Amino acid sequence: MRRTKTVATIGPNSDSPEVLEAMILAGMDVARISLAHNTLEKSLENYRNVRAVAKKLDRNTGILLDLPGPKVRTATFESQGCNFEWGQKVSLRYGNEKSTCSMIEVDYEELATSMAMGDTVGFGDGGVILQVENIKGDELECVVLHQGHLVGRPGVHIPAERLKISTPTDIDLANLEVFLEEGLDLVALSFVRTADDIFRLNLEPPPKGPLVIAKIETSLAVENLSEIVEASGAVMVARGDLGVNYPLEEVPHLQKTIIQECIAKGRPVITATQMLESMIHGPTPTRAEVSDIANAVFDGSSAVMLSAETAIGTNPVKAMETMVRVAEKADEHFDSTTWSEAIAAQGLKDTDKDGNAKEKAKENITNAITMAGARVANEMDLAAIICISGSGLTVRSVARFRPGVPILGFSPDPRVIAQLSLSWGVTPFYMEESGHYEDRVAEAIKIATSNGLLSSGDLVAVLAGLQEAARVSDIIWLCKVP
Ligand code: PGA
Ligand code: MN
Repeated sequence: MRRTKTVATIGPNSDSPEVLEAMILAGMDVARISLAHNTLEKSLENYRNVRAVAKKLDRNTGILLDLPGPKVRTATFESQGCNFEWGQKVSLRYGNEKSTCSMIEVDYEELATSMAMGDTVGFGDGGVILQVENIKGDELECVVLHQGHLVGRPGVHIPAERLKISTPTDIDLANLEVFLEEGLDLVALSFVRTADDIFRLNLEPPPKGPLVIAKIETSLAVENLSEIVEASGAVMVARGDLGVNYPLEEVPHLQKTIIQECIAKGRPVITATQMLESMIHGPTPTRAEVSDIANAVFDGSSAVMLSAETAIGTNPVKAMETMVRVAEKADEHFDSTTWSEAIAAQGLKDTDKDGNAKEKAKENITNAITMAGARVANEMDLAAIICISGSGLTVRSVARFRPGVPILGFSPDPRVIAQLSLSWGVTPFYMEESGHYEDRVAEAIKIATSNGLLSSGDLVAVLAGLQEAARVSDIIWLCKVP
């Protein structure tokens, strides 16, 4: 049984109902709709199509809207584009007219005033990289550090600390509004730099509002990691842009650091980009790509993501099947006992940066109860951990221990169910809100049994809230399925 979740980006090669259906059946847990590559209308159509197909199949497929943030582009290159060779000189300036092989225009007004000598600027997806050698009036004289070909209107990666446009942009906010009307459950924000960027989305905390996924892809986000993770519902290790803003050899280590921070705070974390890059065109992955997915699982990723592989690749379903197979095998080899002992060893202390532990009292109770649940799962022969959770907090808190048994998450809130599509090892179920906690436990066991996940005589650990009003899981009950 697979524990690591999968995210697949929907694009022209995967947005038909037929392919969406095949992708869901192949194991896509969350569909990513990126506004970076599509109009609002097309994105909305894709969103509704995923919803409809998932409903038809009776699957809990999450839908993640990805807000592109400040996406700077070049002016259009002449038809066949340009080759930029290592060491070649080329200039940059602000403009929207046209780009040539000696002068690239960039639609960022502050270009000349915000950049400094020595800065690097990336074009396309990590293709061409230029370094600023000299600033002459409103022109930046650059040298090619990494050669490649540019055509069309490639994206420009200005270092985050130089970029004066903040995320979310006004367009992001207007688009988000449209999707909120649709009942959006998951939203990702690109080029986050501080926790304030998350707050500017102005959303109610989940489950009332969508779960916000902070994309860590700038150096400022890495510097402010702790406050950003705290302010977000989940996180994405966005290795594409991270690898433009940092030397590539740093990326695997940043990946581990970011994941560790998310595990400590009980936030789901997606590892993304180039996981099966060679399957954009080819039928099989490289050995290195397969190892990358498995190692992302061992690092503690809750989910692994496909981008161009499923959006514009020649065989999105095959890419999805490949990722599912590799993740499932890695799950099988995952040492959950050692992992959960290491997380438990970090203790229950949870203070903010001013040492304020009181505010966190509620989470501390959850931490204590879920730690106990994970310990019991390691030491007793449990069939499952059942969480009865209003907001999903308990379920996410259990998941970070990576218990070796299924986590069954029950909630009376359909949005919580949708948001749990991203959480490692969790099978979410809808359950009516009912009076006494004993009734809720009995109902949860009944649902799990009728879904074939439990049978009579099984031992389960149930984490639930004895005092309904407290809205926190404060009890662990070991019970036999009748
Ligand atoms: P993107 O984000 O695909 O929207 O650029 C992911 C990344 O940068 O890796
Ligand atoms: Mn990115």
